[in-house]
Amino acid sequence: MRDIRLDQVEIRFPVKEGFVEAAAGVTTTFQSGEITAIIGESGCGKSVLGLAILGLLPIYAQISGSIWLGENDLFRMSPKQMRNLRGREIGFIAQNPADSLNPVRKIKGQLMEAIRLSQGDFSEHNKKLYGLLKDFGFPKEQLTRVLQSYPFQLSGGMKQRISSAMGIASDANWILADEPSKGLDNDLREQTYENLRQIKKHGVEGMIIITHDIVLAEKLCDSVAVMYSGQIIEKGKNVLSNPRHPYTKGLLDSFPSHGMHAMEGKSPAPGEIMLGCRFASRCSKAMPVCRKQSPTEYGNNEEMVRCFLYD
Ligand code: SF4
Ligand code: MG
Repeated sequence: MRDIRLDQVEIRFPVKEGFVEAAAGVTTTFQSGEITAIIGESGCGKSVLGLAILGLLPIYAQISGSIWLGENDLFRMSPKQMRNLRGREIGFIAQNPADSLNPVRKIKGQLMEAIRLSQGDFSEHNKKLYGLLKDFGFPKEQLTRVLQSYPFQLSGGMKQRISSAMGIASDANWILADEPSKGLDNDLREQTYENLRQIKKHGVEGMIIITHDIVLAEKLCDSVAVMYSGQIIEKGKNVLSNPRHPYTKGLLDSFPSHGMHAMEGKSPAPGEIMLGCRFASRCSKAMPVCRKQSPTEYGNNEEMVRCFLYD
């Protein structure tokens, strides 16, 4: 079992005015055996972090630090090595099945391609294909039709299940899902939760779920990391039930299930040079020190908060 360890990960994108900083020295460990949610407002850097782990950052991104998967530093691997690793080691569940399914190829070919990436024996591939579909809730009598279909011939829920099946078809050890339940109606959202549970049952080493969906995080995740302005500002197993960072409290209050009280103020513009805590201008608990010094992390990788209140 291998953790995914981020060590001082900085990611910047050059722009006309200088650069925008999407990750500002992120150091954290995603524990194997666990499902970790990364939550935060749009633009906090969580999707960029996901792309970095998958080796899918655009070529002009400026990166430093390391992302370790076992002995491999993903930032030091060639594009070819990274392509090999994606799918085999780290599977990806895209937000929209349309992003992972090829519209002009039949489902069978697409699933088989993913299965062929796995180490499994060739003679077992067909068995595996049918097994996967069964696990994702396709009844036997539907299988032939589904496999011979193009994506547009399937319902939204079916495409969802297929793309989840595809995420693990290659026997990936880790799964990264970016907003798997975003923009879905209730039924499809429930279906997505079920798909994710099914993925976990398939014995993946660990999962990272980037999400706005607090219900998903509550129902499925062992641990939650909260991102704000390119940093992880709180992490732990009890973040949702017992938030400690003032930003996390505000964020949770802003969710529909928690009363939907919008947080005041805006996050700093990416690239804004900041002295002190990045949340200080919005924080009702801010102290003089908060505007002068940047808080460090208090606690450990298991339970961490980046706020002077916990000094
Ligand atoms: Fe608020 Fe200060 Fe904590 Fe930042 S460090 S969240 S400004 S109390
Ligand atoms: Mg995003």
